[in-house]
Amino acid sequence: MADRIYLSSPDVTQAEEDALVRAIRSGWVAPLGPEVDAFEEELAAYTGRKYAVALSSGTAALHLALLNLGVGPGDLVLTSSLTFAATANSIVYTGAEPVFIDADETGNMNPDLLEEAFDTLAKEGRTVKAVVPVDLLGKVVNHERIDAIAAAHGVPVLSDAAESLGATRNGRSAGAFGVAAAISFNGNKIMTTSGGGALLTDDEEFAKHTRYLATQARQPVVHYEHTDIGYNYRMSNILAALGRAQLSRLDEMIERRRQHRLAYRELFADVSGVTIFGEPSGADGGDTRDNFWLTSILVDPAEAGFSAAAMQAALAERNIESRPLWKPMHLQPVYSSARASTDGSAEELFHRGLSLPSGSVLDEAHMARVREAIGQFLDGADAAA
Ligand SMILES: *Cc1c(COP(=O)(O)O)cnc(C)c1O
Repeated sequence: MADRIYLSSPDVTQAEEDALVRAIRSGWVAPLGPEVDAFEEELAAYTGRKYAVALSSGTAALHLALLNLGVGPGDLVLTSSLTFAATANSIVYTGAEPVFIDADETGNMNPDLLEEAFDTLAKEGRTVKAVVPVDLLGKVVNHERIDAIAAAHGVPVLSDAAESLGATRNGRSAGAFGVAAAISFNGNKIMTTSGGGALLTDDEEFAKHTRYLATQARQPVVHYEHTDIGYNYRMSNILAALGRAQLSRLDEMIERRRQHRLAYRELFADVSGVTIFGEPSGADGGDTRDNFWLTSILVDPAEAGFSAAAMQAALAERNIESRPLWKPMHLQPVYSSARASTDGSAEELFHRGLSLPSGSVLDEAHMARVREAIGQFLDGADAAA
């Protein structure tokens, strides 16, 4: 069988190899070093933030940001239901409870439901410690409304921008919103350090305290004095070198993913019951530019004559990966007892959505194979309908 085609696998070239060799030969193999400092400066410059702190994962960035905001046992944190589990898990790590907010048609947190949740909780006398909206699949959330609602309640916004590095909203970069933002360099994200993440902020104290917590909360004395519980969450100098090479290629990688999006648009243009998820952009009033991390389709089975699940199975038979959108957190067994403010939107997106191979590493031959497989499935589905 032909090689497996993945949704989004790492895109590494000679530039990454050279960067790794450079870091090793410099003698700064571990722990921190000049590549980490440079990577942080370049990340801050790219996103328009004052400070970046390179960490071992996006999950670590969320966890430390929540701790910095004083989130702890008994607190409530409002977050998107339609997300990867890491968002919710990081809230639970602090001892706080997540409250899940459903999506609007863009897939991002529905501001009306956020407002309702604040009102309901206020009536019960419960206070909210933070709001964590997620930029789903590379599209920045409606920060004009969400940040205003949070501000009206005196609650800080922590942006989960793990999927959206390189995207913009009204000219501002993903990761530049909220008191802080978390980004991820996991292997399947828009760029990778094989595993890693970063916290972005404009607040010097926030950045300093994040570095302190990420290095076991060591007091600046020779004998390792500790007055806080710390974590081992820093990124190594070697991986930062990899990250620098990836960041230098980020715009080019986004452009490749955009080309894949255009090809899918064309492929599905005349297929009734299928739309490209998240388009047109700006549905929520903002001038948004996606980073095209994943191209996903929405299938209306009544109109299309097939389901997203049927297409997923047909592609899997041809060794092509595709995946439903995130299963909403309020439907996850582990979060079945969590509070949620829902209207069925995220659940419907979960059933109708399918993410297709989108990685910048995919070349024309890979994409031709994907188009052919989808074409054959559509022909068969037409015949069956
Ligand atoms: C990937 C992801 C994370 C976690 O990032 P890691 O680097 O894998 O820890 C958090 N939130 C969202 C929305 C993600 O997609």
